[in-house]
Amino acid sequence: MKIKVWGCRGTLPSPGHHTLKFGGNTTCIEIRNEKNFLTIIDAGSGMRLLGKELIKEENLSEMCLILTHAHWDHLMGFPFFIPAYFSRFKINVCGVASAKTFMRHILARQLEAPYFPVNFEDLKASFNFDCAGPGCDRCHNLAIDSINLSHPNGGFAYKFSENGKVFAFITDNELGFQHPGGKLPKDYVNFAMGADLLFHDAQYTDKEYEKTRGWGHTTYNEALKLAIEAKVKRFGIFHHDPDRTDEELDRIVAELGQRAKDLGSEVEVFAVSDGLEISL
Ligand SMILES: [Zn+2]
Ligand SMILES: [Zn+2]
Repeated sequence: MKIKVWGCRGTLPSPGHHTLKFGGNTTCIEIRNEKNFLTIIDAGSGMRLLGKELIKEENLSEMCLILTHAHWDHLMGFPFFIPAYFSRFKINVCGVASAKTFMRHILARQLEAPYFPVNFEDLKASFNFDCAGPGCDRCHNLAIDSINLSHPNGGFAYKFSENGKVFAFITDNELGFQHPGGKLPKDYVNFAMGADLLFHDAQYTDKEYEKTRGWGHTTYNEALKLAIEAKVKRFGIFHHDPDRTDEELDRIVAELGQRAKDLGSEVEVFAVSDGLEISL
């Protein structure tokens, strides 16, 4: 499985001199399985750039789109996703089974007038909302598991497996506060257990969290604790705060890496960045 990051910033796009290294686009991840079938997670602002690349692929006609939840920063790139405007593309929109009808609703609503000049019905790509949920056979041999997020308005984390390699993607998840429908930290530890790669929401310092508790996001230290307890091999902090500078992220990663070592863990800690590519 190959993973490429097109957006890893939280809350809203954050261009500027302070985000040049790690990037300012909001959540969008590209995954290719061994047969090069494309699965996209989330439709944040990074999806616009992904779309520009996809239309150059002459053999590409079908893809899966999986959404974690409907917050603005995870949807705002969809109206600017160029493949949606071409009839040669078929887009399977996969949510968990319980969210099937909701999927069309959340994509279509942001295209309604007066918010956007093109209606969902006018898009040329064919959309399929009848997937049986992530991991159905339309996802073409990429096994996908899900767990409810602890986040305002809910949502889902996903785990992708192929050939014994596992990528756990858990963003917009607050480990220090149980939102309605959310699980306990031990449940997320079990979900991510032994993963080769984990991206987990890590937006706040302990000091900042005194003011942001209940907002749906996790501290660096709590996210690291989960990564260590779940014995993941590589841990990428994700959903960077829009105000977080590159220098701060470098310092935070160094501190987390040292902390992991002090605790006897061999986990590799890094900050996810736009453009990052990882093969598992
Ligand atoms: Zn978010
Ligand atoms: Zn959110």
